[in-house]
Amino acid sequence: MTIGILAAMHDEVADLINAMIAQSGNHVQRIGMRDYHVGTFEGQQCVVVLARIGKVAAAATAVTLIRDFNVAEIVFTGLAGGIGQRVAVGDIVIADRLVQHDLDARPLFPHHEVPLLGMSEFVPDNRLSTELTAAATAFLREDLPYSVSPESRKNFGIAQPVLHIGMIVSGDQFVADGDKANGILSALPAALAVEMEGAAVAQICFEYGVPCAVLRTISDRADASAHTDFGQFLRGVASHYSTGILRRFFAGRSSDSLADR
Ligand code: SAH
Repeated sequence: MTIGILAAMHDEVADLINAMIAQSGNHVQRIGMRDYHVGTFEGQQCVVVLARIGKVAAAATAVTLIRDFNVAEIVFTGLAGGIGQRVAVGDIVIADRLVQHDLDARPLFPHHEVPLLGMSEFVPDNRLSTELTAAATAFLREDLPYSVSPESRKNFGIAQPVLHIGMIVSGDQFVADGDKANGILSALPAALAVEMEGAAVAQICFEYGVPCAVLRTISDRADASAHTDFGQFLRGVASHYSTGILRRFFAGRSSDSLADR
């Protein structure tokens, strides 16, 4: 069974692709200006792809993973701005529902509802999200102290990162303004994190009946300093999180399947 791994930016998956090449070699297929890396990592067959930024890019890439590569499940990993009150830089958010915060076809359809689909919230797969939760919990507890240097943790104020499970909202906007973040929160008070792809992938996965999960590491607080915080976090910390968590996620799956035999 092949899993599709999607990310928006190079730094988020570069280490993962290198680790996969080291373990299995990989075969690259280029479709629609995107490189699909097919290989095996920690015993799991996967296709890793850089979707690029935004809902359209993410949706198109998810469709290709499903139709051209026949993936049975999709995981999106990347960064997000924390907008929930207690969501800090270095924390992790795993989605239990996703909404497109910029979708507004009122008065024809209710705010956030996807026209003609009649849905505004997309719910990721519970089993996949539970497996990711276990992997992220173990990563924070056991790997983070070794994989991110004490200086980086100090710079980013990452003392005791927390794992949150809740609503992630997506839109075609980089939110770097406290008022804008508050506007999103007043329309969607349960939102913990804002990003630019997750809800689009979740919609496609719903439409195709493919289980998906979305995991985001918080790189900024979606406020006036978001741009600087985001860039530094992307270069210094992001790939340690995504590769470390996925390594545990895949390793957990292959040991489960060995135990099943
Ligand atoms: N100018 C930036 C653009 C990054 S867009 C650059 O250096 O390339 C930000 C990416 O990280 C998107 O893929 C989005 O999903 C996520 N993200 C992180 N923080 C975000 C925020 N505050 N608002 C929206 N998306 C955010």
